[in-house]
Formats: sequence, C-alpha cells, structure tokens
Amino acid sequence: METWKNYIDGKFADAASGRTYDALNPATGEVLAKVPQSDAPDVDRAVKAARRAFDTGGWPETSARERGRILFRIAAWVRANAERLATLETLNNGKPLAEAEGDVADAAFCFEYYGGLATKIHGEVLAVPGKAFAMTLREPVGVAGLIVPWNYPIMMAVQKVAPAIAAGCASILKPARPTPVTMLEMAKGFAECGLPPGVVNVLSGPGSSIGSALVKHPGVDKISFTGSGDVGREIMREGAATLKRVSLELGGKSPNIFFADADFEAAVEGALFGVFINQGEVCSAGSRVLIQRPIYRKMLDAMVEKAKKIRLGPGIDRETKMGPLVNQEQYDKVLSYIEIGRKEAKLALGGSPVSGLPKGCEKGFFVTPAIFYDVDNAARIAREEIFGPVMSVIPFDDEEDAYRIANDTPFGLAAALWSRDHFKVMRAIKRLRAGIVWVNHMQPAMVEAPWGGFKQSGFGRELGTYGLDEFTEVKQVYMNLDEKPIGWYK
Ligand code: NAD
Repeated sequence: METWKNYIDGKFADAASGRTYDALNPATGEVLAKVPQSDAPDVDRAVKAARRAFDTGGWPETSARERGRILFRIAAWVRANAERLATLETLNNGKPLAEAEGDVADAAFCFEYYGGLATKIHGEVLAVPGKAFAMTLREPVGVAGLIVPWNYPIMMAVQKVAPAIAAGCASILKPARPTPVTMLEMAKGFAECGLPPGVVNVLSGPGSSIGSALVKHPGVDKISFTGSGDVGREIMREGAATLKRVSLELGGKSPNIFFADADFEAAVEGALFGVFINQGEVCSAGSRVLIQRPIYRKMLDAMVEKAKKIRLGPGIDRETKMGPLVNQEQYDKVLSYIEIGRKEAKLALGGSPVSGLPKGCEKGFFVTPAIFYDVDNAARIAREEIFGPVMSVIPFDDEEDAYRIANDTPFGLAAALWSRDHFKVMRAIKRLRAGIVWVNHMQPAMVEAPWGGFKQSGFGRELGTYGLDEFTEVKQVYMNLDEKPIGWYK
C-alpha cells in the first residue's frame, strides 16, 4: 500500500497532527492508500504559503510566457505519467479505465489550453471624453481555494488549477475526501515542472474541517467550488463574512429529450450513455429521459434490452463498462432512492443484487443500472439528484409538453435533445433553461467550451476563456492627458 503526503509551500509533508486516513478502492472495499488527515492548522500553513507566493514571492509578476511554459511542462508531465495517473484514478474512484484514460488526456490538454491562454490575458482601451485615456487591466484575483468533488477527481481539479496558474493566482486545492490520490500524485509534477513554492498547494482531508477552514480563512480571496447544492449554500453563508468571491458548479437533474423523429438506434444508446456513464455519478447526468409518446414503449423496451448487457466489474478490467459507486455512503443513498422509486413509478430494470462479479469484488459498491418508467415529473426520483445509475423515463406529447417538463426543475445545468428536424432543434435550444444544451449527443465536455449552470445548478463558468475570467479581476485605469490644473477650486 502506498502513502501520500500533502504538498505545501513546495514541500511534501504529513498533516501537522501526524494523522492519516485510508483512501479505499471501491471495487474491493480494500484500503488503497494512506493519506494525510489534514486540519485547520494545515490549511493555515498552505494559505500563508500561497499568500507569500502571491504577495511577496513575485508570482503574479512572472511573465505570462513563463506561466505558459510551466503549464506546457505540467501537460507533458501528465502525458508522461498518464498510465499511472489513470490507473490510480480508476483504483480510487472506481470508474472504468478507458474513462480514466480519457480524463487524464483531457487534463493534459487543459494544461496546454490554459498554457496557450496565459499570454492572451489582456484588458482593453476605452473611449472616454476629454483629454484623457482609459483602459482596463486583467489581474489575478489573488489566493484561491479550489474545492472539488469525487466523481472526476483529476478533471474537476485541473479545470480550476490550470486557469488559476495561467492567471497568476496562488491556490490551495482540496480534493474530495474519498478520492485524494491522483491530485496528491500530480503535486509531484507541479514540483518537478518548476512551479514556484506556494503557487499550488494540495491537502487531503474532510470538507467539514479543511474545506470550511479554507472558506472562512481571511487570507483566501476566492473560492471555486464544485460539489453539491447543500455545501454550495454553506460556502455562500460561510464566505459572506469575508466577502469571498465565489463560483459554484453544482448538481442537476438534467432532461434528455427524445422526439419521435430522432434516429432510433442513436437515441437508445444516447439515453443510456447520458445517465449510465461514470456509474451515473455525473453532475450533468441525463437522469430524466423524456420520450415522445409514438416511440415511448418501443424505446423503453430497447433501452432495457441494451442496458441488461452493460458489463459491471472493477474499472481496472478492460471489459468493464460500469464500475462501482465511490463508497458505502453513495451506495446506500442510491439504493434508498431505488426503494423510493419502487413506490413512485414502475421499475423496468435493476434493483436486484449484482451477480457474476469477479472474485475479490464481494465488498465492492456495485449497483446495477436501474430504469424506472411512467415517472411523474413531481416524483422524488425525477426531482432529486441521485448521482448513481438510475434513469427516470417520462412520456411527453408535443414540443410544449417537453419544454414544460424539462424546465420544471430547480436545476439548470444541462439538457439534451434528439431530433432530425433543425427547426425543432433551434426552437428547443432557445426554450431549454440550462447552461449546456447538447443536440443529438449527451455528455461531451470540451475544454474549449464554457461549463456551468443556470438556476440552482450554480453560477460562474469553468473551461474555455470563461474559466480564466473567474480567476481575474478587472482594474480600471484613467489617465489625465491635460497638464493644466483641474480648475474646479478657483
Ligand atoms: P460535496 O458537496 O459533498 O463535496 C464537494 C467538496 O466539498 C468535497 O471536497 C468536500 O470535502 C467539500 N466540502 C464538504 N463540506 C464542506 C464545507 N462545509 N465547506 C467546504 N467544503 C466542503 O459533493 P460530492 O458528494 O463530492 O460530489 C457530488 C456533487 O458534486 C453532486 O451534487 C454533483 O452534481 C456535483 N458536481 C457538480 C459538477 C459541475 O460541474 N456542476 C461536477 C461534478 C460534480
């Protein structure tokens, strides 16, 4: 079993208390790693290191070219270590290896993308009256606390760390408690690639102590958070005392809408992919599948037949298409929703114990794909985020009916629609209240394109140029070009 240390001020260190906790392999329930159980004093050390790097260490004054070069070196380090990172991601999170490999490749590209953008951060010249000149500068927001969830441990972290470095911020990254391993590993790359001490610090531990300590710390200027709505609300409350800049990427209950004219085969696979990829532990999961009545029964039957063949197993096995859920807590939560669903709707698939798992996986947190149908959009399984492989199928009559049901949710992260009629597609794009709308696909997330929610799915955007804006402040500069006195007080 390997052990990992925190990365603070350019050095690898145990928690100040010397305490550790076990990070598990969810496919077997066995201990994968020992990692530091950090606490408020560790957060304080990391924030002080970040402040030094930012306030007196010269990091914000580093040339944009240099920050870009460091990001390119980190990208190369990620590619050189891709196999190890992907394997660790799968062992710690549970996801199939091919998915982890995709995440690592995206992470490497994300460093490259922001490495390129580092030299393109600039303000603008403004037209102002009189003998004067005005312009804006884009400056780093300062010290940022980056708090991430466990479903995409590498990607969720990198899409914050990379723009923070590009912008000239210093940061403290807190991975989710169950899945700290890959970002603690990546800290070795930060050290090797010449990132100055304190510019990125990585600490493992529980959100209730170290996450909260980061949010309350007066030395932190900004919190960039991805996670649940409940914790997002808590962060807004706790961050209010020091008026933290906050951006929140929260959950969803996204509709995946199938019009009767959609390509049938693509639709069936797209509905399953939309909700069962990554074991359903996806913020943008298409967990509400809306099907137009003429194809409702046929599509439901075809989805059930195809979903029966999804192969469950440890993510590390190349044949696996669905791994275990991340831990016991998530497993219990998903099973409890399946019990709730049994009372609210009809169950076409799932809800039974998993069979045929390889030896050693008896204690893994596996749940078979579940498909509920004839679900009322008011049911709990249609309103609450389950974050597991549970699909709620809802019929609709016409376009208006589809938009009404799709938008009848407190969330607004994503929506997808499937149709071959471009008039209908354009109408739907305009009517759906969500930060991301996919057409004839669901889930691709591009580093180049903005990601974030409407409504209670949060605010702020990650990725693309928008993700960089979140780590900058705008400074206005006004210059008088008239050498005479103002002439107001005669
Ligand atoms: P969570 O909210 O429980 O935890 C997220 C992070 O916050 C973790 O690092 C956790 O330790 C920390 N945390 C917990 N309590 C805290 C506190 N009081 N103060 C500060 N930090 C605290 O979420 P999770 O269970 O790890 O992840 C699942 C959730 O994340 C789902 O709701 C999902 O939709 C959401 N998510 C959203 C996106 C997106 O891009 N919108 C992406 C992935 C996941």
